[in-house]
Amino acid sequence: MKNLISVVIPCFNEEEALPYFYDAVTKQSDVMREKYAVDFEYIFVDDGSTDDTLSVVKEYAAKDGRVRYVSFSRNFGKEAAILAGLEAARGDYVSVMDADLQDPPELLGEMYETIVNEGYDCAAARRVTRRGEPKLRSLLSRLFYALIRKIAKADIADGARDYRLMTRKVVDAIISMREYNRFSKGIFGWVGFKTKWIEFENAKRVAGETKWSMWKLLLYSADGITSFSTMPLAVSSVVGMLMCVIAFVMILVIIAKTIIWGDPVAGYPSLVCIIFLVSGIQLFCLGILGQYLAKTYIETKKRPVYIIKENNLEDN
Ligand code: UDP
Ligand code: MG
Repeated sequence: MKNLISVVIPCFNEEEALPYFYDAVTKQSDVMREKYAVDFEYIFVDDGSTDDTLSVVKEYAAKDGRVRYVSFSRNFGKEAAILAGLEAARGDYVSVMDADLQDPPELLGEMYETIVNEGYDCAAARRVTRRGEPKLRSLLSRLFYALIRKIAKADIADGARDYRLMTRKVVDAIISMREYNRFSKGIFGWVGFKTKWIEFENAKRVAGETKWSMWKLLLYSADGITSFSTMPLAVSSVVGMLMCVIAFVMILVIIAKTIIWGDPVAGYPSLVCIIFLVSGIQLFCLGILGQYLAKTYIETKKRPVYIIKENNLEDN
């Protein structure tokens, strides 16, 4: 029996990039079929695209039996698309790859060799440069990774991409995580297994626009932190405690001052500042608490992570 490699491709409004992608990935498959005698299947997950992504994918499916697809009823996000793809994948090895060629398909050969010859369970791509990315964006990304590496209970590498090749065991472990708030980079790290990081230079997307605005990235990072760490809760309690101690000391100082020097009416500005500061900290901590509560609320609803509108999974 030949080994089967499934390639999962989350696509959201990628009609412009898909032709380049399909070209590149099929070329790479041909190379690998020759070299390692492996079979391929491609699982395109149309994440509620509003352009012609789905019809492009259907065209490929009509002429190429290796193409399978799932189409969502609306945009559920990349994380949901990855889960749907992994669930549909039948391969002995499964790869997750972006549709915009920022994840070079040529790395797949090296990843496959790493797993088969070196005994790793997973080979993942990590970009060492962020060339061609806005400066502020890459600075914030770096800060985010530095922070989450410190406080999260999962191994998350800086510059890690979702691009990787995994064995069936790893895929099954990921699928078994049924949480609704899916931060893939955290999930990949959390399941463990032996992962080798393969480094590569950042590539620009071939066509189309990035789907991530600064605001979306910011929310995504907050999501990542609250999904994989409860450290902010601890920090807020420590800060709260510290504030109490400071207040207590201040009370003692004021009592002593009043007894010694009487009570001249002064210090109104500093009082206002303190009130603002303390209520600010309180609101901030309440906000953190709220984030976790909201997460718990959503999780307890046990909603499906995605809803499929149509697919050809049973056909071939
Ligand atoms: N994507 C998706 N759903 C979304 C946003 C993005 O499936 O809601 C897909 C997108 O089609 C692409 C991959 O996720 O294949 C990465 O997106 P993008 O290139 O926009 O992100 P960037 O590379 O800029 O981080
Ligand atoms: Mg991209």
